[in-house]
Amino acid sequence: MTRLSAITPSGHAHLGNHLGAIRRWAREGSAGDLYFVSDLHAMTVSYNPSRLRVLSRELLAVLLAAGIKPDRVFVQSDLVRELGALSWVLECTCSFGEAARMTQFKQRADGQGTVRLGLLTYPVLMAADILLQGATEVPVGQDQTQHVELARSLARRFNTTFGEVFVVPRAVMAPTAARVMDLSDPTRKMSKSTQDNAGVVFLLDEPDLVRRKLMRAVTDNENRLEYRPTTQPGLANLLEILAACVGRSPIEMADEYSSYGELKEAVAEAVVEELAPLRASTLELLDDPADLDAIRAAGAERARERGQHVLESALRMAGLSG
Ligand code: ATP
Repeated sequence: MTRLSAITPSGHAHLGNHLGAIRRWAREGSAGDLYFVSDLHAMTVSYNPSRLRVLSRELLAVLLAAGIKPDRVFVQSDLVRELGALSWVLECTCSFGEAARMTQFKQRADGQGTVRLGLLTYPVLMAADILLQGATEVPVGQDQTQHVELARSLARRFNTTFGEVFVVPRAVMAPTAARVMDLSDPTRKMSKSTQDNAGVVFLLDEPDLVRRKLMRAVTDNENRLEYRPTTQPGLANLLEILAACVGRSPIEMADEYSSYGELKEAVAEAVVEELAPLRASTLELLDDPADLDAIRAAGAERARERGQHVLESALRMAGLSG
């Protein structure tokens, strides 16, 4: 079994990425799991090239610092030639209607003056990511299941039309881990691409800044320390963060504190403690560019080798490559 997961360098990694995904990947990952930094996917909207390069390296360092094995990680653009070739073959297997039907495309394109063609074709690139690595399972949230369905259809269509090449992947629901909400607006999830940084705890924030952000988190005037996500979303978010850090339940945590201030202090300390080793190891990796480059190159080589046979067969069956 090969399970493939990705994280997009559309901004700095944050507490939500850590508690909701990265920490679990590092703890529960099995030998067949693969993780990649999906920098090509960050190009579907306006972006800054030098920032993208910095963010991709940073995310790679975060994944390694979290404890994911170096031979399980790679950066997507290190395979840009292979993915570009396979994407073209898959684009010619995909109809315009299929791509245009993607709900996420419609949502993300809606209201934008200029829509990059890459935003339309990005699910096909995602199919190339999956099929090149021969992934059998793709853990996804609800918003991505349609994209994995597309990858399945393209794989099957190619296999029936030209010959059996691709493993047909299936979407598996990513286990529900903590869903961390924005500290300034607890009705929306903490996100890398939020403009206002006050509500987002970045993994590399200085401990004092982490404390300040958590102490200023929006709560309510009810003065009632209970876990009630619908009516007290800000408080519930803090309880969930604390629970995820200390490995207990949010309801239990609500019983432990008598004031919002006391709770916030406890959350701040728990988060600082949770992030300290990750932050230190990430900074250490970023401090040694040669070492990180070597790990990155080895990861790319392994990912390329994994996909080489599939790519060569797909190109040959499609009538290319001699
Ligand atoms: P973001 O909005 O931060 O860019 P995303 O889900 O759009 O997040 P990804 O790069 O795909 O972008 O996220 C990587 C992983 O982090 C995914 O598994 C996603 O579910 C998880 N994740 C992102 N934000 C949160 C959050 N606020 N709480 C919990 N998990 C999160």
